[in-house]
Amino acid sequence: MSLPVSQILRIGSYTLREHLKGGRYPLVLMLEPLLRCNLACKGCGKIDYPDPILNQRLSYEQCMDAIDECGAPAVSIAGGEPLLHRDMPRIVKGYIAKKKFVILCTNALLLKKKIDDYAPSPFFTWSIHLDGDKGMHDIAVSQDGVFDIAREAIMIAKAKGFRVQINCTVFDGADPARLAAFFDEMKALGVETTLSPGYAYERAADQEHFLNRERTRKFFRDVFARGNGGKNWAFTNSPLFLDFLAGNQTYECTPWSMPLRTVFGWQKPCYLVGEGYVETFKELMEGTDWDKYGVGKYEKCADCMVHCGFEGTAATDSIRHPLKMMKVAMKGVRTSGPMAPDIDLSNQRPAEDVYSSHLERELAKIKASDPKAAKHVVRAA
Ligand code: SF4
Ligand code: SF4
Repeated sequence: MSLPVSQILRIGSYTLREHLKGGRYPLVLMLEPLLRCNLACKGCGKIDYPDPILNQRLSYEQCMDAIDECGAPAVSIAGGEPLLHRDMPRIVKGYIAKKKFVILCTNALLLKKKIDDYAPSPFFTWSIHLDGDKGMHDIAVSQDGVFDIAREAIMIAKAKGFRVQINCTVFDGADPARLAAFFDEMKALGVETTLSPGYAYERAADQEHFLNRERTRKFFRDVFARGNGGKNWAFTNSPLFLDFLAGNQTYECTPWSMPLRTVFGWQKPCYLVGEGYVETFKELMEGTDWDKYGVGKYEKCADCMVHCGFEGTAATDSIRHPLKMMKVAMKGVRTSGPMAPDIDLSNQRPAEDVYSSHLERELAKIKASDPKAAKHVVRAA
């Protein structure tokens, strides 16, 4: 089920307008209104914060302010598990009232219980976390039975008239044939897939099972070759982003295209790497030294090919080179022949450890503002 034409036109005209103006602009607000989750996936870098931080929530007003500040036409709400946030139905309604396109990401454990708090709308999409078939997904989320719950949730949401897609993160060791069969299954279910390679960002607990750039490019060639250059399947990703995954484009990231507002503030520089937090979107855009980040510039970025860093680049490339984009959309991703040169990593600056100082600052802030949390802060620290 593709995006409604009205949404494509709305987002397309925003992108074109901003592109013509020049300068940096966001496409999708990434919102993490809480970090608490009801799963404990081994690749997750969100859930191991101490309790005082896991207990933090962005209020309805903060969520509305975030979209007003940045002006993006769409918001992707993740976490943590957003369905644990008591005000989530009101937050979704508030965004829809502002005519923002809302993607609500969930692990689906609570979807059956909470689905009637939401109503189908051309502005609203459920995005169910599914990292492959039953065996692959249950291992990725470190709990048996979650795939079956998510699959049932997809069917329930579709039966109630909701637009549903899945978000699929691919980890090292995935079997291309199995992943291709999984995409067939999702196509048969009538849901689109948002695809991203797992990237060993600094907060991920399990650093071993993420893909590096070389393996990513070879892996996606292998997968797409099994599906007619990817044309057999329905992806929400842009054709040129898929082409990039398969090693046919040399792209630098566009980290501001999907800015993250989390319980700590606006995260610098991007969704994946947290090197500091600021109070306002303006401070993020004007106060970040963007030239310090990206593949080839910073060690933490070396393996990154994720959609929230590179979809914005693919979107800009599509505007500049529409014929190239249409060729990939029509013919599929090229899965053989030479790859585009990759970015040289030899001059990247070394990684900086900013996590401990950031955590201490956040805990001190909580301790100062909430005396009841103080004893937990001491225990957690
Ligand atoms: S469902 Fe998402 S937020 Fe929850 S533990 Fe898994 S990766 Fe982390
Ligand atoms: S490459 Fe870009 S998007 Fe990826 S972690 Fe670095 S700054 Fe963020």
